[in-house]
Amino acid sequence: MARNAIVVGAGIAGLATARALAVQGYKVTVFERNGVASGASIRNFGMVWPVGQPDGTRYETAMRSRSIWEQLCREAGIWFEAAGSLHLAYRQDEWQVLQELKDVYNKRPLRLLSAAEVKKISANAVPDGLLGGLYSDTEMIVDPRDAIAKIPVYLNGKYGVEFRWNEPVKEISLPKVSTVNAVYDADEVFVCSGVDFETLYPQLYQAAPLTRCKLQMMRLSGQDYRMGPALCGGLSLGHYTSFEAAPSLAVLKQRFDAEFPEYKKYGIHVMVSQNEAGEFTIGDSHEYGANPDPFDKAIINKLILEYLGSFAGFRNGSVIETWNGVYPRLTNGEPWLLLRPAPGVTIINGFGGAGMTLAFGMTDRLID
Ligand SMILES: Cc1cc2nc3c(=O)[nH]c(=O)nc-3n(C[C@H](O)[C@H](O)[C@H](O)COP(=O)(O)OP(=O)(O)OC[C@H]3O[C@@H](n4cnc5c(N)ncnc54)[C@H](O)[C@@H]3O)c2cc1C
Repeated sequence: MARNAIVVGAGIAGLATARALAVQGYKVTVFERNGVASGASIRNFGMVWPVGQPDGTRYETAMRSRSIWEQLCREAGIWFEAAGSLHLAYRQDEWQVLQELKDVYNKRPLRLLSAAEVKKISANAVPDGLLGGLYSDTEMIVDPRDAIAKIPVYLNGKYGVEFRWNEPVKEISLPKVSTVNAVYDADEVFVCSGVDFETLYPQLYQAAPLTRCKLQMMRLSGQDYRMGPALCGGLSLGHYTSFEAAPSLAVLKQRFDAEFPEYKKYGIHVMVSQNEAGEFTIGDSHEYGANPDPFDKAIINKLILEYLGSFAGFRNGSVIETWNGVYPRLTNGEPWLLLRPAPGVTIINGFGGAGMTLAFGMTDRLID
């Protein structure tokens, strides 16, 4: 008889786990506290972003995720765009870092582009003062609102995965799993509860090297043509672990700290992607702490838009939405949190700012 697994949480970690279990022949039920999974997974850019992952397990996991995403989007009718990414340089020290990254990651599909070449593939890159860009072929964009809604329907249709919405899991004591409605039997449980550290295994979460990170995001009105690759300004070079491989990054970061103290204070770097409707998703800031401020700061949105204007232009673009998101963030530099609090129980969490990039690959490898 098929083994019976329960997954707690229908964010991307829970959905990826449910998929991996179903592929291996498990009978899977997913319990989600809310009527819609409205945590970090529905609030992000939808950037599947291997370029931000250093070589080794993380890059391999990101690429494994990317191929699962592509197949899943095709089968489930989820919009995606294999847009690639473009990091732009307007100062010599940024250009130097991009050149170094091209050398370090010489096995990846990266290309250094002149300003004229950038202009050919990017409708929105600001041409004034542009020295060039680093194009990467591996990034893809999904619309998280579309994906988080359609993946459950797909998993149910293809594998018979059951979803129980508005049913928080209160307690796990295998083989029993108690929710607010009933007690269920399971052979195994996978806890993918995101930023909720209080309901299940609170002592374990207290002891884990974890904090929370709050991000502010915006959406700009659309344009009726595609922007080309997702765009990043120089500040993003200081954000992703993979870029630490560039020898002159430390010097560049010193300049950023001196020139942009407010950006450092709020952990701001600026990226932009485009959704199916042509609208632009823009962010973001990073404020760390156990109890994120529930209120958004106008100054952060202003700083993001100002920096955006230095490398990307949007004719008549206006802000149509603002929101924030919170994710758990490991403080020990690891890419994810994997705990086994009891026989048959696995906690999968702590993907930080890379859950869309890593969750499918990580869970596929773990359960395979
Ligand atoms: C603004 C923002 C932008 C980001 N951009 C990107 C990006 O472009 N690319 C990328 O790779 N990553 C990005 N990330 C990171 C990514 O979104 C997260 O790593 C990922 O969404 C975490 O997924 P999760 O399933 O662990 O958590 P969540 O999406 O928060 O899901 C957890 C779910 O568990 C449910 N739950 C909790 N407790 C229980 C319980 N007891 N019973 C039942 N259900 C429960 C919650 O209701 C929730 O739906 C971004 C994050 C944010 C916030």
